[in-house]
Amino acid sequence: NTYTASEERYSQMQYRRCGKSGIMLPLISLGLWHNFGDRDDFENARSILRTAFDNGITHFDLANNYGPPYGTAEKNFGKIFKEDFKQYRDELLISTKAGWDMWPGPYGNFGSRKYLIASLDQSLQRMGLDYVDIFYHHRPDPDTPLEETMGALDQIVRQGKALYVGVSQYSADETDRAAELLKKQGTPFLIHQPRYNMLDRWVENGLLDTLGREGIGSIVFSPLEQGILTSKYLDGIPADSRAAIEGGYLDKDKITPALVEKLKKLNVLAESRGQSLAQMAITWLLKDHRISSVLVGVSKVSQLEDNITGLKNLTFSPEEIENIESILKQ
Ligand code: NDP
Repeated sequence: NTYTASEERYSQMQYRRCGKSGIMLPLISLGLWHNFGDRDDFENARSILRTAFDNGITHFDLANNYGPPYGTAEKNFGKIFKEDFKQYRDELLISTKAGWDMWPGPYGNFGSRKYLIASLDQSLQRMGLDYVDIFYHHRPDPDTPLEETMGALDQIVRQGKALYVGVSQYSADETDRAAELLKKQGTPFLIHQPRYNMLDRWVENGLLDTLGREGIGSIVFSPLEQGILTSKYLDGIPADSRAAIEGGYLDKDKITPALVEKLKKLNVLAESRGQSLAQMAITWLLKDHRISSVLVGVSKVSQLEDNITGLKNLTFSPEEIENIESILKQ
C-alpha cells in the first residue's frame, strides 16, 4: 500500500497567485477541520489526501485544535505525511493556526506571543514537520495588543518555523492594522482566511477591497456552508451527514424548510449549468479574482472528485449571476 503520486497531478488543476506574492494556490484547497480526527476513519482520511494531491491540490489546511479531540487531525496528518507525502514535501503547502482554546490555563488561547509560539512548536511536533508553509492567527483577540500578535508572527517567520503568515476571521479594519504592523516589521502578509459562501457574504462589505488594495491573497472557508450548499439536504438529513452528528458544529435546525426551498431552486440552476449544487457554489466564489483559493472539507473521496470536476465550468453569464442573487434574496 505504498503511495506514488499520479504523474498527471499537474495536468488539470488551475492555480491562482495568492495576492502579490510568489505563491500560487490551487483553485481548490483541502481543509482538515473535520474527518481527520481520532473518531474518523484513518484509511478514508488517507484516501482523501491522496486523491487531493493526485489532482493537483497542493495545499492542506490544518489548525492546532482540529480533531476531535484537539490535536488529532495534526497527529493523523503527520502519520500519513510520513508514510505517503514526505518525498513530496517541496510540492506541498501545509498550514496550521492558533487562536482558539487549545490547552488549559491562561496561555493556551487567544493571541499572546507565549501562546502562538508554544502552539506552533506543538503543531510541528504532532505533524513531524520542521516548518509549516503558512501559520495563521486563527481569530482576532480583542485584549492582546495587535503589536504583540503580529510581532509573534514576524518572530515565527524569522525563526524559520513558518515561511509565510496570515490571519483568519479578522475584520477589514483589523486586517488594515495588521497589514501596517507587518509591513513595518518587514514580514509579508500572505493571506487572509475568511468565511465566505453564497449564504454568508460579509467579506463583500470591505474586506475583499482591503485585501485587493494591500495585495493580500485570500482562501475562503466553509464555501459550502458546511455542506448545506450541496444537494444532500434537499430531501431530509442523511444519517452520514455533518448535520446528523450530535453536538457537532452544524446545527440541523439551521436547515429550515424555507432554506431547503431556496436550495432546491439553486440546484435547478446548477443543473442548467451542467453542475452539481456543490460545484456551482464553489465556482461562484471563484468568479472574484481576489479569491485565491476555495478551502473545502470533504468526508468522502467522491465529494472531492465532484468538487474538482466542477472547475471545468468557471464562467457565469450575467443572467446566471442575477438569477442566483434573486433566489438568495427570496
Ligand atoms: P465546506 O463548506 O466545504 O463543508 C464541508 C462539508 O460539505 C463536507 O464535510 C461534506 O459534508 C460536504 N461536502 C463537501 N463536498 C461535497 C459534495 N461535493 N457533495 C456533497 N457534500 C459535500 O467546508 P468546512 O466547513 O468543512 O470548512 C472547510 C475548511 O475550512 C476546514 O476543513 C478548515 O480547514 C477551514 N475552516 C477554517 C475556519 C477558520 O476559522 N479559519 C473555520 C472553519 C473551517 P458531510 O460531512 O455532511 O458529508
